[in-house]
Amino acid sequence: RVNDEAFVTLATNDTYALGCLVLGSSLQRVHTTRQLVVMITSGVSAPMRQQLVALFDQVVEVNVLDSSDTCNLELLGRPDLSCTFTKFHCWRLTQFKKCVFMDADTLVLQNIDDLFDRSELSAAPDAGWPDCFNSGVFVFVPSEETYRGLLAFAVTSGSFDGGDQGLLNSYFCGWATEDIGKHLPFTYNVVSQAFYSYLPAFKQFRSHVKVVHFIGAVKPWHQPFNSVTGQVSAFPNTGHSQEFLQVWWNIFMECVQPNLD
Ligand code: UDP
Ligand code: MN
Repeated sequence: RVNDEAFVTLATNDTYALGCLVLGSSLQRVHTTRQLVVMITSGVSAPMRQQLVALFDQVVEVNVLDSSDTCNLELLGRPDLSCTFTKFHCWRLTQFKKCVFMDADTLVLQNIDDLFDRSELSAAPDAGWPDCFNSGVFVFVPSEETYRGLLAFAVTSGSFDGGDQGLLNSYFCGWATEDIGKHLPFTYNVVSQAFYSYLPAFKQFRSHVKVVHFIGAVKPWHQPFNSVTGQVSAFPNTGHSQEFLQVWWNIFMECVQPNLD
């Protein structure tokens, strides 16, 4: 195991933690050689922490707002941004030289350890506005200085979409034009609705998909699952690919569910 590089994810509650367990299992399944780290907040229960500890190399508790930090004090006046900022705590993981952040609603289908050859900030285009990167998967270099810079920028400029993606795109504003090496192929962060917007491309490149991202309000863990047939019956109109939802549930049932009470 490489000790100074890690995949990092985040959960602020037990349902997102289920996503982290499936994501972590999916990374193990493709034999990653990097550390697995999950950041959690006080909203994750003790039994769920035990599940996370069994799978992840490090479980790091982070505070949404830490009053010992002046930038954070200013943020106390902006509670709307507090959840967003939890993700930025990943820059404080300075025990690592380089990391890849992955949302709890992502799923790895093929080994992606080559991402550690990339530099900060590398990410894939957002399907909705391809001159913005999607912040569900990104390569970064932990640094207290960058963390403070992000918070200071947030206080002065805010986030144009109210979330971490808007703020990160404003902060790393050279991404769209400066260095094509920082553009990850879309296959490293395929929104699971992609087949709907461009079906021929989805068919052509399906076998190249490395990471699926279940964006939107309805997550895989919300979908009805039939434990007799082992099939997920996708809600209509969420746009999620039935095929990818089934992969998520297969990993959940095989690797996660047997350990739950
Ligand atoms: N997240 C969390 N708790 C929340 C909302 C978000 O832990 O209540 C974390 C989780 O890792 C999640 C990420 O923040 O994957 C981004 O949120 P989400 O994936 O729901 O946004 P989307 O990708 O749908 O825009
Ligand atoms: Mn997401």
